[in-house]
Amino acid sequence: MQFRLLRGSILAVSLSLATVPAYFAGEPNPPCGTGAAQSPIDIKTKKIKTADLPPLRQDYRQVTLNLIDNSHSIQVNYAAGSTLTVGNKVYTLKEIDFHHPSETRVNGKAVPLEAHLIHADSGGKVAVVAVLFDLGNPNPLLDVLWRNIPTEKGKAVNVSAASITAADLLPAAPGYYTFTGSLTTPPCTEGVIWYVLKAHKTASKEQLDDFARLYKKNVRPVQPVNDRQILQTK
Ligand SMILES: [Zn+2]
Repeated sequence: MQFRLLRGSILAVSLSLATVPAYFAGEPNPPCGTGAAQSPIDIKTKKIKTADLPPLRQDYRQVTLNLIDNSHSIQVNYAAGSTLTVGNKVYTLKEIDFHHPSETRVNGKAVPLEAHLIHADSGGKVAVVAVLFDLGNPNPLLDVLWRNIPTEKGKAVNVSAASITAADLLPAAPGYYTFTGSLTTPPCTEGVIWYVLKAHKTASKEQLDDFARLYKKNVRPVQPVNDRQILQTK
């Protein structure tokens, strides 16, 4: 996951992309190397607490597809007006990116693909909804995305012929795990609220292979949980 709005400036973005490899341990620019609440993590379900948590209300509009290959991942830039509401907090959907295999692990296990739906509130607080994909039936939205991946890296393309909604990435069941963490690419900014959906979606072997041809393993290793509390819905 990367989130441009949290970076100091566009210049800082291009500098960090030019000088820092996308995924590695011991990143030189703090808090990647020093943070105590980093992402991704391995969720050990036996060690977490069950709590009475508010439902995620995801009101995602149909938008014109805007896509960029940002050298970390394939990223959808989402047009304004789609929201995630959790209790009295409202976040706007900004970007979606993908990781192969998943960055998030559950009881040590990764799955073939993970989507990060990256939101921010009006004060810049970031909330990520993570969706895990098992091997199975093709996801129709992934077909539309993969078909329109720009040939040139770093240049966003607007695909006026393609209307999409992030709702097509969501499983039907509402349960989730939640904890605080960070962005998973430099600058690894902390204070990000994570919602990892318990139910999975599926992607076909062909869809996974197509993504893997571009990004064979765009995954940051799991980070120590330390003293963070991980909660799950009932
Ligand atoms: Zn991501």
